[in-house]
Amino acid sequence: MKVIDSHMHLGECTIFGLKITEEELLNYIDKYNVSAIVVQPFPGAPDVVKVHNAIHELSLKTNRRVLGMASVNPHLSKEFVSNELNRVLKSLNFIAIKLHTAGHAISPINPKATMLFEHASKHKVPVMIHTGPGPFSDPMAAVPRAEEFSDVKIVLAHAGFGLYSSAALWIAKKYDNVYLETSWTYSYDLAAFLKEVPNKVLFGTDLIENAPVEFAKLDGLRLTDDVKELILYRNPKYVFNIQHL
Ligand SMILES: [Zn+2]
Repeated sequence: MKVIDSHMHLGECTIFGLKITEEELLNYIDKYNVSAIVVQPFPGAPDVVKVHNAIHELSLKTNRRVLGMASVNPHLSKEFVSNELNRVLKSLNFIAIKLHTAGHAISPINPKATMLFEHASKHKVPVMIHTGPGPFSDPMAAVPRAEEFSDVKIVLAHAGFGLYSSAALWIAKKYDNVYLETSWTYSYDLAAFLKEVPNKVLFGTDLIENAPVEFAKLDGLRLTDDVKELILYRNPKYVFNIQHL
């Protein structure tokens, strides 16, 4: 069965004290036979342009098994944010934009975040929004954006992270353009998502240490192959518009 991992990072994070090397990333996708992985810089990347370029290099090296998600701090200058988003979405074929509410200390409804949704609309790519622990991470703050940008697919990363999972599910049920990425969610929340909105659930791991846990959760729920294929492959392929798989 083909596997698309919707949420992974590369590089260093000075905010959360994390680091994922290229070697670790490639070892992970080989070990778990991941067909495609959507990779973004950490919110605390010391040099985001450098990480975007490294993701692009990996994408070329792996024949687009690695796919880029742009993550730029919206508090930086408008010009920098706009130029970098246009550069990676147009020239480097990145396939999504991240809004890291907790890591960049920004609510989805902050006027500075508007640019991210405008670029997503222009380039026809989804926006992934961090939800769960941390400031500004209540998924309800994504609702005005889901309404305002009904043409943009919005992926709630961690689907509320247990803390706000029922709110995340409510939003995904109500809004056609809202999807749930399930890294770090509780098994019983994942089961509820699959019962209520099976076509909206995307598999993701976030960190390499967490990857075995995410695969084990699927085993624990004893899902049918059909449901597994939906969340591991068909839903992420559709949301990120991955043509080559
Ligand atoms: Zn993440």
